[in-house]
Amino acid sequence: MQLKIAFIGIAADRAELFQSIAPQEHFSHRFYTIAKEEELIRELADEEQLLVIMDKAYALSPRTVRSSMPRRGSMLILCVDRADQLTHEDYDAADDIWLNDGPALARFYFSRVLARIAARKHAWMQETWLQATINTLPDLIWFKDMKGIHVDVNDAFCAAVAKEKAAVRGRDHYDIWDIPKEVYEATDYVCVETEDDVIAARKTCLFDEEVMKADGHLSKLKTYKTPIFDGDTIIGTVGIARDVTKEYEYQQNIIYMALHDQLTGLANRRQLDEFLSNLETNEMMVACLDLDHFKSVNDTYGHLAGDEAIVRTAALIKKHFPDTLNVRLGGDEFLIIFTDGTVSENIPERMQVFMDDFFDAFKEDKRFGVLSVSAGIAEGQVGHGSFDLLLQRADEALYAAKAAGRGRYVVSHRDEHEVIS
Ligand code: GH3
Ligand code: MG
Repeated sequence: MQLKIAFIGIAADRAELFQSIAPQEHFSHRFYTIAKEEELIRELADEEQLLVIMDKAYALSPRTVRSSMPRRGSMLILCVDRADQLTHEDYDAADDIWLNDGPALARFYFSRVLARIAARKHAWMQETWLQATINTLPDLIWFKDMKGIHVDVNDAFCAAVAKEKAAVRGRDHYDIWDIPKEVYEATDYVCVETEDDVIAARKTCLFDEEVMKADGHLSKLKTYKTPIFDGDTIIGTVGIARDVTKEYEYQQNIIYMALHDQLTGLANRRQLDEFLSNLETNEMMVACLDLDHFKSVNDTYGHLAGDEAIVRTAALIKKHFPDTLNVRLGGDEFLIIFTDGTVSENIPERMQVFMDDFFDAFKEDKRFGVLSVSAGIAEGQVGHGSFDLLLQRADEALYAAKAAGRGRYVVSHRDEHEVIS
């Protein structure tokens, strides 16, 4: 970076001394001298790093010089023999006053101002990098002080709350998110409480949070909060929140798809396996169902009509057996599983009511008039691995129901089949 250094009324030996002093790291110097007022505008009015060193004894007023200089990134030094020569205007115009008192002091002043300009530039660059970085990220970022006041936020934060930075800085959470404190306290929002956790933990913590964005959508956030230290004292926190609503929905969908039959929404085999592996029950009943003459619906009216019959069957199963695990095993085969709470004497009756409803529902539609449903029901004590045996017995009972003329159920008691006709 180049630092332009303009001398106004500075003696040649003093100018030479300044020129002999090495620039700060990353800086180079370009010296020039301004002799007349007309040169001020041409030489000073640009946006580069600019240091003007002028002597009070020179004909130009510091105020005139200051008014020709760019506001940002420039500095005006006024050199004076004695402080009592200075006016209020001089103090207003100058960024610093140097006393003319020998080369050692002049060297000290000059070196110090170079360090100050370099530090200022460095701080400006850090701030610029920080702002560019936080505003590039799609995550919501905020800095809060210990009173919960937002010191700064990024563009994504402003977009989420539909507010300008000026309307966010200096405000607290309730104000920014437009949530009355009473409402906040009555809901599951956890955003403010977690700050206390971070301050207690004194390290970065991750939270699952939920906020209502300005567009009215409830968003799920994964939020990292980090305490900011001044020495040992925490002076605030930084928060970085990633909106994971979409990912959360995808995840929920994936879990749902993994555990449900796509056509009917009933449980699939995987869910059945999980259910069985976590099962804690003593009594169990399994009903194995299979549509009768289903193939002929497919063959006569096509696969789509067949699908519709399966979907409608599943809906009827859900309606009549809302308290059980209902599984579509595949094709036109279903399982209904009753465990401790749902096993009861009247399951055969419930099955009959279901079958009657099935018959009524399907006879209306000529495509499905041929359909009925057969079921095999098995009951038993459940021990390790015995589900397969129970299923096998239910399957045999189903086979018996089919053999007995379809459209009926067969109950397999612990050691015999009871055929209901
Ligand atoms: P039964 O009375 O002995 O049960 O005979 P069925 O005609 O019902 O035939 P079965 O149960 O043996 O075979 C089921 C048929 O279901 C076989 C297959 O073509 C068909 N199928 C399997 N999955 C689907 C599906 O997802 N949609 C449709 N439309 N048909 C399917
Ligand atoms: Mg069938």
